[in-house]
Amino acid sequence: MNDAGEQQALCPHCGQPHDAAAQACPACGVAREPAAMLPGAESEWAHARDGLKTKWVASVIAFWVSVVILGVVFFIEQRLNLMLTSIALGMLVIGIWLKTRYQMHLRNDPSKH
Ligand SMILES: [Zn+2]
Repeated sequence: MNDAGEQQALCPHCGQPHDAAAQACPACGVAREPAAMLPGAESEWAHARDGLKTKWVASVIAFWVSVVILGVVFFIEQRLNLMLTSIALGMLVIGIWLKTRYQMHLRNDPSKH
């Protein structure tokens, strides 16, 4: 990997290949934008972030729904339903896991270098 200085990139304006380190395209003179180096990387990251957030919110809602059902069943049966308790605990673990993944993903924000 010692040819990094000779890496070629395609100009987003005219499509001509040029040195990736160049500040402007030598063919058409249009200045390179940072996003041109990794096309779609930022939107891909944002897409993954939204997906993780949706899953996390869904798991939090599922956790609270299972807690409410557990509470109602506990009120009716006067004892803790083991299956519902394990479901609620499972939702809690999934929620924490998704939240951790979400936080880790936020730290990899490509727009904050
Ligand atoms: Zn160009």
